[in-house]
Amino acid sequence: MAGEHARLLIPGPVDVDDNVLEAMAEPVRAHYGDDWLAIYNEVVDHLRQVFGTENDLFLMPGPGTAALDAALGSLMRTGDKVLVARNGFFGDRLAAMARSYGLEVRHVSAPLGQPIEPGAVRRALAAGPGIEAVAVVHLETSTAVLNPVERIAAAAHDFEVPIIVDAVSSLGGVPLPVDEWDIDVCVSVANKCLACPAGVAPISVSQRAWDQMERKGERAHGWYLNLDVWKDFADNWASWHPYPTTQPTNVIYALLIQLRCIMAEGLDAYYRRHVVAAQSVRDGLRRLGFEMFTPDAYASPLLTAVRGLPGMDVEDLRRYLLEEWQVMVSGGLSELRGKLFRVGHAGRAASQEYVDQFLAGVEAYLRLRGYDVAPVQDEG
Ligand SMILES: *Cc1c(COP(=O)(O)O)cnc(C)c1O
Repeated sequence: MAGEHARLLIPGPVDVDDNVLEAMAEPVRAHYGDDWLAIYNEVVDHLRQVFGTENDLFLMPGPGTAALDAALGSLMRTGDKVLVARNGFFGDRLAAMARSYGLEVRHVSAPLGQPIEPGAVRRALAAGPGIEAVAVVHLETSTAVLNPVERIAAAAHDFEVPIIVDAVSSLGGVPLPVDEWDIDVCVSVANKCLACPAGVAPISVSQRAWDQMERKGERAHGWYLNLDVWKDFADNWASWHPYPTTQPTNVIYALLIQLRCIMAEGLDAYYRRHVVAAQSVRDGLRRLGFEMFTPDAYASPLLTAVRGLPGMDVEDLRRYLLEEWQVMVSGGLSELRGKLFRVGHAGRAASQEYVDQFLAGVEAYLRLRGYDVAPVQDEG
């Protein structure tokens, strides 16, 4: 691979395997016709297995945010009330998106580094009649907290309210069985845990969500981002062009190659990689004196959020890792900037090679800056 390429240990995009890059570089295919549809349909079938769903599933070209926009704008109308769960940057982003549609946003919150409590969701729904959707982030990427979406979905359904889950940074990396957990709209992307280049956002839609859209009738926001338009094409143009617009065929073909690898490895083995990598990174960092920002009990194995050592300039550490070790990690978002750094474990970051390079870089930094580093222990 290119010598200057920095290894990505960020939540996404992630480094992808060479065979996926090679697939991406094949000649451009048209996004319709029999040959293409065989590819497209195989991708959707694999994704249904990863999502654990028999619901409708679309591949929306764009970032994850496009599909989240589609979810909010399709299920809700201006003036409707939505309950947004907030315990970090991406929950706040969901609230901002909802406000942009003129929705009346109610909140249920938890402190940074703590999960949303399903009981609090239930109380908020009981206290605020007329709420017509709950929106929650699965893995809050700003802190690594994995929210208990199964129990939050159950709370929403007790009030007959559909749930929209932002699983952009988690789907494919940890179990998220959409049908078993009864998730109405589930949004992800190709370029995080599915370990493919960016370009497409898979989104699944339940019958409960369709019923709500039908009840609300016309006046959905937009056309391209209207899920009803996507369903119309999937139903009525299935044999030729089951989506309303051009598709990024090179990305989708690369995703097919990657999904075949994931399915051949087995989802459980694929999930396990992240658990192993997260454990090595956390053990290594603790040995060097670091504390994790998020308690292990709530932290996703896809991402580790780490507090800087007392007095440490976290941005200086990140710059050093990138310049001297070709290792890119993420910093803290908004009010956490400068306080923590985040290490992703998806894609090639799950490999021992990436983990070792990262830990060696951090140790070298500590020695360089005069921190007291214990000699490496023999683990035998
Ligand atoms: C990365 C991320 C997003 C944004 O994804 P885009 O593809 O950049 O739109 C949204 N939500 C979460 C939880 C994320 O981690």
